[in-house]
Amino acid sequence: MYDYEVIEDEQASMDALEGRTLAVIGYGNQGRAQALNMRDSGCNVIVGNRGDAYREQALEDGFEAYLPAEAAAKGDILFLLVPDEAQQDLFRESILPNLNEGDVLVFAHGYNLYYDLIEAPEGVDVVMVAPRMIGRGVRDLYVKGSGASSYCAVHADASGKAKDICLAIAKSIGSLRVGSILSTVALETEIDLFMEQATWAATVAVLTTTFDVLVEAGFPPEIVCHETWGSKEAAEIFEACADTGLMQQMSLHSQTSQFGQLSRGPVVAGDGLKERFKEALAGIQNGKFAQEWEMERMLGYPHFKKLKKNALDHPINAAEEKMREMEE
Ligand code: NDP
Repeated sequence: MYDYEVIEDEQASMDALEGRTLAVIGYGNQGRAQALNMRDSGCNVIVGNRGDAYREQALEDGFEAYLPAEAAAKGDILFLLVPDEAQQDLFRESILPNLNEGDVLVFAHGYNLYYDLIEAPEGVDVVMVAPRMIGRGVRDLYVKGSGASSYCAVHADASGKAKDICLAIAKSIGSLRVGSILSTVALETEIDLFMEQATWAATVAVLTTTFDVLVEAGFPPEIVCHETWGSKEAAEIFEACADTGLMQQMSLHSQTSQFGQLSRGPVVAGDGLKERFKEALAGIQNGKFAQEWEMERMLGYPHFKKLKKNALDHPINAAEEKMREMEE
């Protein structure tokens, strides 16, 4: 059983961040949003990034910006906000040589911790604050006075204060304003990977099959795209699911639609779906997927590049272009 606790804003204080320098390393999607939110919450934030457009953006936003290793040396709470697959090298080359006892490492996703790909030395706290939102949303919601919920976890508690620090960070980026989930790195990583490898993977396959079957049957490709996702009806339905419930939102559809969905769903999805989803979960929990992905990374992503090329060569892409012309 995966235990968790919901933490609200008034249950945490910012005291644990008082007098500390927060070094945000990586000024991309999450880096920029979290750095701006934490500064607006009163924290002392600096940025670490290679000297390029990201660093320029940080300077333009008014931050002191350094190379990653310099920021790691100056900061004592270090946020690793570069892509997960870049974190191991960054950690080894720029972070580890600059870590001191009492420092804190902060992750926005548990992948590298869960699979022991990054191990902090003794004396260093390791926490995770993983927003369930793209960076832009983390910033926009904060500015509006709300926030994006996060999964929070303590991975290593050298100081005995890691939980307070973790929740103070979640508070400072606005995540506690809407309640956040304090649990474990395992819960966040497993559920996140499962959604990607089962739920969303199957959704993309369902939409691609919809396109293939209807186009083969003679329907205009651009109309198929418009019907399935281009009109944004699907986005509205997901919004209604969040607001009223997956089953409750059915009443927004016609009776014919409801009968079609409920009677045909289990048949078209097939008996094997649950078993295949269980296999996906097993591959996450036994490390098979992580081994495959690590091998890809080491070889320069050969299979991934092929898969992406096939996706971008699929006739869906041309159909979408035509759909956009049609909508203009
Ligand atoms: P981005 O892709 O936006 O990161 C870009 C930043 O990383 C830039 O500052 C870039 O600078 C730097 N970077 C890229 N490659 C390297 C490298 N090899 N070495 C050093 N720096 C590098 O990342 P995200 O913000 O999307 O992800 C950051 C973390 O947040 C991840 O752990 C991710 O799982 C997590 N997360 C992401 C969410 C999202 O919606 N994007 C949601 C929740 C969590 P430069 O290229 O100049 O080095």
